[in-house]
Amino acid sequence: MQPPPAPSGPSGPDPRAKKILFDTFWSSKGWIDRDARQLSEADREYAKRHGMMFDPLTIGHDALATETRRLVESIEPTKASAAFLASLTSRRLDLRSGLASYVLASAAGPHDYVGNASGTCVTCGALREHRDEDLDVLNFERHKWGGVRHGDPLYTLLDLSELARTEPATPTDDDRATFEKILELVADSAPKDTPGKLSRRLADALPSSKPERDVLVEILAAVGVLAPSDPSRGSGEFVHAGAWRGADGYSRTAVARLFGPRA
Ligand SMILES: [Zn+2]
Repeated sequence: MQPPPAPSGPSGPDPRAKKILFDTFWSSKGWIDRDARQLSEADREYAKRHGMMFDPLTIGHDALATETRRLVESIEPTKASAAFLASLTSRRLDLRSGLASYVLASAAGPHDYVGNASGTCVTCGALREHRDEDLDVLNFERHKWGGVRHGDPLYTLLDLSELARTEPATPTDDDRATFEKILELVADSAPKDTPGKLSRRLADALPSSKPERDVLVEILAAVGVLAPSDPSRGSGEFVHAGAWRGADGYSRTAVARLFGPRA
């Protein structure tokens, strides 16, 4: 990836650049069709200058895997955890995303490309060669909902690149209290509660839209806080959290590993 044009500060990205990114993909009616998207060259350049939009990316599997590995090793785990916590009351969804990518990428070691029948790597899911990939839509999803493709190799690369260059975040007492409230709600789940039910109940913990909460539940599962006891179960559209049920509660081990000892 290209070096970042400008880091986003603690207060978040440049508002105009963020608006350009959002207005390219989203309207009050939802997604804007590819054919109907309007983006002037001047606006694109502005958003790129402020690190919110990117040139299309062409990258091979090995370079993608190597760069992802380099990013994981360069980022302090506490930076990823702090960013996640700091997202809870600030509603900086971009800060929320990286922890899941960090944990997922940490689990995959260096490896060579071994393709499956559909032409993706059996280890990481990347193509042998990615051509002209659109990182803008991934960055939009990251800022809008906290990411929706955790585990997708290109998303992981973008998410970790952004986490690496983001100023370290400092969680507040309110952030930590909100996280405790989330864990309480998880622990108070009825045994057969699904991830969708948990997502609805999390509305009591933090200001959020339904898609934001669904992603939050996915992130909690991707990092191991929600650890399904029976991975064979599924639930609707949830990828990482699909097998979780209320009876599983949350993993104190994962919480301690990621966020340190609790007060
Ligand atoms: Zn791979």
